[in-house]
Amino acid sequence: MSDYSISIVPRKSSYPNNTAKAKEVLDWLTSRDIVKPTLSDCILSSDHGYAISEGARHVTNLPEELPYNLITNGLEITTQRQVFHTGGNGLDQCICPNCKENIAFEDWSFIDSWAEQKDNNLICSLCMVASDVYQFTFSPEWGFSDLGFTFWNWPDFTDDFLEAFKQQLSCDISIVYTHI
Ligand SMILES: [Zn+2]
Repeated sequence: MSDYSISIVPRKSSYPNNTAKAKEVLDWLTSRDIVKPTLSDCILSSDHGYAISEGARHVTNLPEELPYNLITNGLEITTQRQVFHTGGNGLDQCICPNCKENIAFEDWSFIDSWAEQKDNNLICSLCMVASDVYQFTFSPEWGFSDLGFTFWNWPDFTDDFLEAFKQQLSCDISIVYTHI
């Protein structure tokens, strides 16, 4: 079957003390029994994640769709700089803040300079002007950060949970829906 994920990503290219914040958010999630506190084989990659737990029923309006019966059901925490892209959900629009053109169908190598940690800018492949990655409008939403929380095969979260997550991170968040 095909897997999907929802990633919650702070809208900051470099999150201050990202590993400490990752631990803090994990502690918050385990204190509410949303995920298990120990690592196990429950995410898609070869790394380990934190498996779904009983409290997850309180963070979605579709608790019957929670992946309790799937092996890939956990939380993956990322603390390396990463482009959180939508996978098979693609990219319909990427609007440059300078020329206002949609560059989603141009050469995507403009993302490489951010991914390779050269700086936090993207250079528009049409007007060649560099702007901060968060000045570009991605639709559907993508994430760009060195911190991210990816939930495998979970249904949509409640607005309350997303708001609480935002408060944990003390900044705006991107919510990235990925299909493998
Ligand atoms: Zn441009």
